[in-house]
Amino acid sequence: MEIINYTDQHKAFRIKARNFMEKEVIPNVEQWEKERLMPKSAWKKMGEAGFLCTTISAEYGGPGLDFISSMIVMEELTKTNHNGAGPLLHSEIVVPYVEAFATEECKKKYLPECVSGDIVMAVGMTEPDVGSDLASMETSVIEDGDEVIINGSKIFISNGINADLVVLAAKDPAVENPYKAIDLYLVHKDMPGFIKGQKLDKMGWHSQDTAELFFSDCRVPIGNRLGKKGDGFPMLMKKLQQERLVTALWGLTAAEFTFDQLLKLYRDDSGLGKPIKKTQVKQFSLVELATELKIGRTFADKLLVDHMEGKDIVPETSMAKYWLTELARKVADVGLDIMAEAGVIKSNPIPRAFVDVRSMLIFAGTNEIMRQIVSKSMKI
Ligand SMILES: Cc1cc2nc3c(=O)[nH]c(=O)nc-3n(C[C@H](O)[C@H](O)[C@H](O)COP(=O)(O)OP(=O)(O)OC[C@H]3O[C@@H](n4cnc5c(N)ncnc54)[C@H](O)[C@@H]3O)c2cc1C
Repeated sequence: MEIINYTDQHKAFRIKARNFMEKEVIPNVEQWEKERLMPKSAWKKMGEAGFLCTTISAEYGGPGLDFISSMIVMEELTKTNHNGAGPLLHSEIVVPYVEAFATEECKKKYLPECVSGDIVMAVGMTEPDVGSDLASMETSVIEDGDEVIINGSKIFISNGINADLVVLAAKDPAVENPYKAIDLYLVHKDMPGFIKGQKLDKMGWHSQDTAELFFSDCRVPIGNRLGKKGDGFPMLMKKLQQERLVTALWGLTAAEFTFDQLLKLYRDDSGLGKPIKKTQVKQFSLVELATELKIGRTFADKLLVDHMEGKDIVPETSMAKYWLTELARKVADVGLDIMAEAGVIKSNPIPRAFVDVRSMLIFAGTNEIMRQIVSKSMKI
């Protein structure tokens, strides 16, 4: 019995998504990788075709599909070897904050454009001196009548160059308890004092624009606050389960895709100019990876179903995030060993996977933090 019950509607949706990726993404990936950005026109096409924010309800202009459909889009996008999680971050990690915590006015104003691709979203938490320990963030927010004034900077912000709207974390310096001092604001790119920095030149994940963002006396309407004042931390905690589950499922899909490519190259020796030496050691390595991928898929699909049923699976999701992203790294690493010299030829997909998947171990909470969450839940 399958763990996920894929309906005929899901299956048809997957075919539609695959056709879209074949036509609109795959032919452009190399150009986007060179330009270090997926252009806005591609976001618009994804939106128009119904592949952004698939779970947002019709009331706010969305397709109103389920989380399985969202993960189908993620899977088909990952299988383009584009690995730019920009749309995934937008649709499944950032926009859900707006849907869950924004005022009705903000939802009506922003959500339809998030669905259509006219608005690209980013989330700004990390700062030059602050990463895992968000409580020590320095970006400040002070109320001034019906506005707030934000000062500070954020770094490593995915979709940072394309971003039209940012869920920004800032801290009220007057509140002593750091866990009650953080608020989240929707900051639009046209708000005064919001400045975008340079596109960061990363090791991999090239078609994804990552940038530094600056806020200099940036004035934001108080109505753009998400939730109640001081609720920033609990809101972040509430959304982290989905963020980490999405990263885990994405890591697994990347691992499966890389493995399929590796297997094909191993079987066919195709296009690499030199045959891959075939040995029993290599066969056994491939068998072991195939086994781990099967175990990983069973675990991940069960978590997806549990998440959709509203279960609290924070420790299990943390296990999956670290284990499956490390599995993605392992598949690419072993893949390079198996291919030997041919492994370093950039035209084959394994080197790209090797540099792309590495970041997955860092964002959405580092894998050390994931292990820490699990160890706390085990009371050890
Ligand atoms: C490609 C990419 C995209 C990103 N996108 C975004 C984004 O869109 N928005 C955003 O806000 N941020 C983003 N980030 C930043 C990311 O969330 C941070 O890098 C991450 O939270 C870790 O923070 P740090 O790099 O400052 O490391 P630190 O927190 O300083 O940690 C450094 C090292 O110490 C370890 N460590 C830290 N604390 C502990 C502990 N308590 N126990 C054990 N080990 C510990 C960490 O695991 C890590 O190995 C992105 C990062 C990358 C690489």
